[in-house]
Amino acid sequence: MKSSKIIISGISIVALAFTIYSCSSSDDSSSTDDAEGTATVPTIFSSSYKSAVTLSSDGTSVTLKSTGVPDHVTPYWGVGNALYEAQTTGQTVNPGNLESQVFVMTIPINPVAAASKEETSLGPIGMALNGVAIYNDREGGNVQVDAGTLLSFDRAGAHSGPGGLYHYHFNGDFTSDDDAKLIGWLRDGFPIYGRKDADGTYPSALDTNGGHIGATAEYPDGIYHYHCLNVNYMSSGFYVLKAGSYYGTKGTFTF
Ligand SMILES: [Zn+2]
Ligand SMILES: [Zn+2]
Repeated sequence: MKSSKIIISGISIVALAFTIYSCSSSDDSSSTDDAEGTATVPTIFSSSYKSAVTLSSDGTSVTLKSTGVPDHVTPYWGVGNALYEAQTTGQTVNPGNLESQVFVMTIPINPVAAASKEETSLGPIGMALNGVAIYNDREGGNVQVDAGTLLSFDRAGAHSGPGGLYHYHFNGDFTSDDDAKLIGWLRDGFPIYGRKDADGTYPSALDTNGGHIGATAEYPDGIYHYHCLNVNYMSSGFYVLKAGSYYGTKGTFTF
């Protein structure tokens, strides 16, 4: 009897080891399953993000993975690409084409206000619904986008930087245009919208972080959310997506 118990234990260990191996191997796949956890991804994320973004959840946070490349035309695809679009007159495209990235952003499902607000910094501060990185209004040296840099933007309000990392600083033809469209989520788990609210009006009392609490199409019961800054940036026709500090506590974004 004793020896048969040992055999059963041995089989269990093999089965357990196989289960662990199976899980880790599925983590390496690019399927749209719950690779980072076994919890169901809240519908608000799965119905908003495009299929280029892989979503998973551990029940308290959502992890978003993307290659960061746009699903629309831009000069930054480079000549020969099906989504290449020639630069417009006067535009000075940055050197180098956009390149595929490995973006992993993890944000809380139920974000809360941070006691002390952290300033956004250079690099990705959020992810648009198509998987493209959202940046603030700063460029290298942590200075605001200037007139020269403005010329490098495509009509999506984006350009690419070192490593071919394509990113949105502004709204544009493919995110929002004077509307209340959901653009994506920032690293603190709060959503960002176009310049208008769902009722078609411009919000009038945004806080210093560029947001307020109110109902949106995706959150009819109300949530804190950001809006694009309703200022025509240096008469460029672009509107800064996000400047200043996070309202909540930022999650991770590796790239
Ligand atoms: Zn930039
Ligand atoms: Zn609003």
